[in-house]
Amino acid sequence: MKLVIEEKLCKGCNLCTMVCPYNIFQEGTKLNEKGIVVPVLDRPERCTNCRLQKLYQRRLCGVCQLICPDQAIKWVEEGPYEPHKVVIEF
Ligand code: SF4
Ligand code: SF4
Repeated sequence: MKLVIEEKLCKGCNLCTMVCPYNIFQEGTKLNEKGIVVPVLDRPERCTNCRLQKLYQRRLCGVCQLICPDQAIKWVEEGPYEPHKVVIEF
């Protein structure tokens, strides 16, 4: 699964940047066409849901989604040949 921020719903409140245990949400720097600075994702493949949601057949952590007042955070199916950028941290 892939974590995405739906840009048309996000209002740039940055609540999501405060709750993720992996600090996946980072404050953005660029205004979009609506004048909103949407957070950026730092290696979202580290998200518990991205990695394990399919295996456990249910939503796991999900704190970012719970705290988002605009329901802008979701997980979508990855395309069959979507490239993965996996960073191994020691
Ligand atoms: S579900 Fe949890 S681990 Fe995944 S991005 Fe949200 S807060 Fe971070
Ligand atoms: S909590 Fe939701 S609305 Fe607020 S910045 Fe994050 S994604 Fe956007």
